[in-house]
Amino acid sequence: MQRFEPTSEQLAVIRHRGSHALVFAGPGTGKTETLARRFAALVVDDGVDPGDILVLTFSRRAAAQMLERIVQRLRERTGEELAVSELFVRTFHSFCARLLDGDGPRFRERNLLTPIKERLLWKRVAGRVPLRSFDAEVRESPAFASDALNLIAQLKGQGLTPSDVESIARRDGRLIDIAALYRELDAERTRLGLSDFRDLVKDALDALALPDSPASAWLRARGGFRHILVDEFQDSDALQLRLLEILAGPTRDQRSPVPEICFVGDFNQSIYRFRGATPSNIETVRATFACEELKLSLNRRSAQAILDVANATPGLKPESLTRAEDESRPGSVTLLRAPMPDDEMTLVCDEIERRMRAGTPPNEIAVLLRVSEPYQSLIVGQLDARGIPVAARPSAGFLEDPVIAAVLSAIRVSQHLDDFDQWTRLLTNPLIGFRAVTVRLAFDAARRAHVKNAFVALRNNPPAGRVTFEDFLRHWRAVEGAARAKDADAATLVATVAREFDLLWPVRTGEMPPPGWDARSSPARLGSLVDAARDMQMMSFALRDGCIPPMQFVESIEEIAGLLSDPTQTPPVDSAGVRVMSIHAAKGLEFDEVIVPQAVDGVLPQRARGHALLSAASLRALHATAPTFVSSPEEAYQEECSLWYVALTRARTNVLVTAAEADADDIELPLSPFAHAIAQGAAERIEGRALREHGATSDGGFEKSTATKIKHVLDHLSPTGVGTFLTCPRRFFYQEVLRLSSDSDEEGTLLGRLLHRSLAAFHAHERVLDSTEDLEARSHHWRAMLYRLVEASAGDIAAEAGIALDSGFMRYQLAIARQYVADYVRLLARQSASAPFEVLACEQRLEASIDGVRFTGQADRIDRLADGTLAIRDYKSGRIIGRLALAVRQSLAKIWAGEQVAGDAPDGLNLQLLLYIPGAQRLYQAQVSLVEFIYFRGEGDGEGLVTDTIRIVDVPLAGDQNAFLTDAEVSAAQRELAVGAAAACADGRLWEFATARDPSTCRFCGYTQTCPGPGNVAS
Ligand code: SF4
Repeated sequence: MQRFEPTSEQLAVIRHRGSHALVFAGPGTGKTETLARRFAALVVDDGVDPGDILVLTFSRRAAAQMLERIVQRLRERTGEELAVSELFVRTFHSFCARLLDGDGPRFRERNLLTPIKERLLWKRVAGRVPLRSFDAEVRESPAFASDALNLIAQLKGQGLTPSDVESIARRDGRLIDIAALYRELDAERTRLGLSDFRDLVKDALDALALPDSPASAWLRARGGFRHILVDEFQDSDALQLRLLEILAGPTRDQRSPVPEICFVGDFNQSIYRFRGATPSNIETVRATFACEELKLSLNRRSAQAILDVANATPGLKPESLTRAEDESRPGSVTLLRAPMPDDEMTLVCDEIERRMRAGTPPNEIAVLLRVSEPYQSLIVGQLDARGIPVAARPSAGFLEDPVIAAVLSAIRVSQHLDDFDQWTRLLTNPLIGFRAVTVRLAFDAARRAHVKNAFVALRNNPPAGRVTFEDFLRHWRAVEGAARAKDADAATLVATVAREFDLLWPVRTGEMPPPGWDARSSPARLGSLVDAARDMQMMSFALRDGCIPPMQFVESIEEIAGLLSDPTQTPPVDSAGVRVMSIHAAKGLEFDEVIVPQAVDGVLPQRARGHALLSAASLRALHATAPTFVSSPEEAYQEECSLWYVALTRARTNVLVTAAEADADDIELPLSPFAHAIAQGAAERIEGRALREHGATSDGGFEKSTATKIKHVLDHLSPTGVGTFLTCPRRFFYQEVLRLSSDSDEEGTLLGRLLHRSLAAFHAHERVLDSTEDLEARSHHWRAMLYRLVEASAGDIAAEAGIALDSGFMRYQLAIARQYVADYVRLLARQSASAPFEVLACEQRLEASIDGVRFTGQADRIDRLADGTLAIRDYKSGRIIGRLALAVRQSLAKIWAGEQVAGDAPDGLNLQLLLYIPGAQRLYQAQVSLVEFIYFRGEGDGEGLVTDTIRIVDVPLAGDQNAFLTDAEVSAAQRELAVGAAAACADGRLWEFATARDPSTCRFCGYTQTCPGPGNVAS
């Protein structure tokens, strides 16, 4: 560990006495070290008993690091080992558990609701609670389980009981369902005697409220604490602040209080509101505790070039901003733009490769994502394909650890005694240690002699290795005995394997460990596996399901590995790979090189989205009762600013920020406003489809990379690309494969962009359209707002396109846009009165896989209707030229008659909304019951806006056949038309892209100058 001399600011914190201290400590300012030195100074200089100092952290990892540092500093100051009966360096939760023990037996085993137990409990409960608003398919999905359990935990963190939620719910079906699940889970949890982390804090508060409780008696008997040090105070929640207030006692607003509390926090790094963190606790302490305010502002981690950009993030509190200790240390922040998201992912992987070639170890490079999926999978997939090691998940390396692999192989062998392959895996495991060649010799000889019994095979030719085969066999018999016992259970078997094969021998002997072993995490992983087996066994007994057969445990191991830690936790520090993880997971870490993709407006900062499970009305009702339950728009934006700040300040030397210029549908993606702080000279655009050479512009001194060639592989299609292919394969070829710019690009798409941008901004404010009252006044308000937004967007778009705002062209576009939005307001008024809805998202990226073909695109708007189902809506700035339902039926009839559709598609065959359906259903866990195109130019001449509205139904409806499509027709359109189009151009096999047959198709085509003309190239 690097030693350092304390700065004057750190010395002020270490030596501060006589009042509470509120320390504003920015990133890289040595909080842990300063607190550890303060602890040592209190003990050595002031003679405080170490047991009279309480240190509180928010994670076990932080508590372990703090404890290690404190012990080191004490040893340095005293020259001897610490001798103390009990040291209070704990997480809030573990301290509460200690409080509840009182003077009773210490470390009393608490039956904690671990993630594994919680998930097993959920499986049991979710299946039997009748739900009205979530259908069977949704309730069985893992995403629903995660969302519902998180929501229930949040409700609980606000102090809301199931009865409170029921009374708030009134007639809200979804909230009623959540309340029912909450009640049943709580009842079952209580019946089984399980507590979760929030219960511990709440139970401790309840206990401290009773003077005779063991907790109160214990605290009173020991005279409380003399000093309390609180790390990462901005992550505390309402209950944790209450606990500190109780511990502070009546002297909290006086000079010379007992205890003295040292709160260390950074409002600017507050990113855990979703877990209930309440950063306003800092202001509460400022107002209600008599604190002296101190600061740590000297940053020993990041170069000043990085801090210049990070400190320019809007909304930061100046108290915690930092400056580099050595301002001359080189560093850089570079912005690179790529044409499309896929290019951006390739660019990120190229940059990682380049940094590794320049000598940066992979685990000193981190890719930090605001939105993890699908980007995390795409980047991990590309890095894997290039042979670059990756650590992306909290459970990274778990199944590959030789300790875990040995246990699993042994259990498998115990259930399949003559499986030569399993035996080979077990015996050649590096911790078991038989040489592979000798094991192979034994089994090859057995096969030749037609020997099927593995023991006979191994006895005939005993393999050689770390121990003798006879010795191994002796231990194996004990494992086999445990596996064959009448009541064999997984937990006992795991422990038996570990003990008999001495799987932790590198710790015991201190000998050179085998490959794959990690001194810190391998034992911890074995502990997690044993705990997981015990958890499963305990729940199985509690639920009267009996013993878990060993093979059932092995088969569920992948799921277990995923549950051992949550996705916002960091991958293990020992994994040697490039870290690809969420910004949330990177808190507290640092790297030489940090890459921050997705720097586009809407992702960073993230555009507010509807709640996964609850309607806006439900959220409003909850907010009225528990004001901190839902973040205000300002708080949500503040957290986005903090996420950007946290991402940048993880880097020591270089930050690369990347952004795509357009999405998969070629809709322009505006640069994140945060990225505007990156110096002009440090921004570079990657031109065209082929990524050209690029290098950093700052002091990083990167070498030039080799250009990547165009590779014509269509591994995914955009829904609009499918529409283009069906209309005219040749146009698709120019647009999607060659990526030629269209003759009418700029002007042709300007009006559409103006509308999309204005309407997205409008619905960021106007989300719930359910009013039947005073529609005239609301319409007036909407119209005025939209006119303002259109004017503002026109100014931006004109500037980007280099067109004068007062040019005749722009004035004409503006006039049309104003007319269109006035029509739109009339449509909204009609719909909000007759079919109310809530806007869940605008410009929402969706991805779906249909028959193995990946479709990615962006839906203009997704709404939740009054019955809880979804509507997907699309804005068309042109006029309607055909109805979708009719076009789908005509096309399917052609396909089934063996005729060609591509290049000769009926008017109106626009499949994009049908292809968005699976992605929207997965994202919002509800059925799509309606799709709608809104054509602003209407039908024919000058009629104003019209809609093509299609209900998605189980069985055909009577009446207007254009008004519905059945599920079967939607499914056939997805498979026969879209997947068929994808199959035709997959992997670049199709080179003869047919031109359209009908010349009228070419009316609005932008490639008439390039194309040989309709009917000239046959398929
Ligand atoms: S001009 Fe006609 S045939 Fe040629 S690409 Fe355009 S739509 Fe297709």
